[in-house]
Amino acid sequence: MNNPMNTAAHPERTREEWQHLDRQHHLHPFTDFKELAGKGSRIISRAEGAYVWDVDGHQILDGMAGLWCVNVGYGRKEIADAVYTQMQQLPYYNNFFQTAHPPAIELARQLTELAPRFKQVFFTGSGSEANDTVLRMIWRYWQLQDQPQRRVVISRKNAYHGSTLGGASLGGFGVVHEQMGTLIPDIVHINQPYWYGEGQDMSPEEFGLLRARELRDTIEEIGADKVAAFIGEPIQGAGGVIIPPATYWPEIQKICDEYGILLVTDEVICGFGRTGEWFGADYFGVKPDLMPVAKGITSGYIPLGGVMVSERVSDVLMGDAGEFYHGFTYSGHPVACAAALANLAILRQEHLVTRIRDDIGPYLQQQLRTLQAHPLVGEVRGLGLFGAIELVADKASHRRFDSKQGVGMRCREHCFQNGLIMRAVSDTMIIAPPFILSHAQVDELVSKAWKCLDLTA
Ligand code: PLP
Repeated sequence: MNNPMNTAAHPERTREEWQHLDRQHHLHPFTDFKELAGKGSRIISRAEGAYVWDVDGHQILDGMAGLWCVNVGYGRKEIADAVYTQMQQLPYYNNFFQTAHPPAIELARQLTELAPRFKQVFFTGSGSEANDTVLRMIWRYWQLQDQPQRRVVISRKNAYHGSTLGGASLGGFGVVHEQMGTLIPDIVHINQPYWYGEGQDMSPEEFGLLRARELRDTIEEIGADKVAAFIGEPIQGAGGVIIPPATYWPEIQKICDEYGILLVTDEVICGFGRTGEWFGADYFGVKPDLMPVAKGITSGYIPLGGVMVSERVSDVLMGDAGEFYHGFTYSGHPVACAAALANLAILRQEHLVTRIRDDIGPYLQQQLRTLQAHPLVGEVRGLGLFGAIELVADKASHRRFDSKQGVGMRCREHCFQNGLIMRAVSDTMIIAPPFILSHAQVDELVSKAWKCLDLTA
């Protein structure tokens, strides 16, 4: 059968032909179309383990696990089999109007077992939908607590929480806000705990406290009786792998407790093991009331997201509260839940999370730090299987390149040409590889990164 999705079934199509069709018919997310029209897309046609191959057959080490999601690596037959079986048994049914199906129920049970402070799970199709759901839950919670005036959600500059109206409003990317114009009201952004970029005139510990205490100042300014919640990624991913100083999260927790506001950790990237703990909140020792998840829940094999709901919130929402008018056709899609169950089984059976904590995480961090010696590198930071390499024009003064020079983009391009995927966030090169990365693949990643830094310099 001639399957149009299978490039193997179209040996007659060259890369140029794919690129032509792509330019003509396909609008890409987060892409500068003019730039793309000039050079054409990279066409990735297959993957296995930690590698992807382009349509010309070049093998590329995927230092980004797709988009921070293919945690168990590519080509896992266990997930494909679970999906195939579920598709035959029950390809779709919804969880609306007092129905449910076993895969959603079992996945909810397993998730609350993994994160026992959460009593229930509300499923969505993505991380963005999870954050929209978070907003709806926060506002409904305070309504039911007879404090409907508590509407303000405090988020952070340079945060990423998705691309729906709710997610993008919670996010703190200036360029996104400029383009969107009107955002959802009642969302306020405070500064991020980005020590290398914004805090080097004091110790990381002092800086962490300073940035956390902006939360208290902001609550006082707005009026504590109007503030509903604080949301933050335990480690800011798309903002450039911003790892907060150790003092930051405990202080945030203290302030949220003091004012009784809900604490939300967006675990879309950190969740399911990347820090070496199951959730970023576990790593930083905080106790969120709500936890949006996505990506690593299925290792990206099929879209799925959700919100983990603590007893504090669930008792109110599930109490004598009437119907919660919210949900998606694909909330808890059975095939996605089956993929998630198979994915969780792999994570557990192969001890992939403890492997990050005890073995491959420390090894990656140690090897990555060798890049610090490169003349182009201002800082290397990382934790678990997160890494960031900040490129600077002057190492001693940390002076940055003019953004118009596009140094990060150039480096990203050299990486791709030399068999490595790293992402560029301005001039910060980001990695978040699959959890199954071997020691030899860490060495390959670091030596290719060094070579590409040389080519960029
Ligand atoms: N939250 C965080 C922290 C993310 O990194 C992302 C995506 O990168 C999202 C939310 C949005 O998730 P999705 O792209 O699945 O809607």
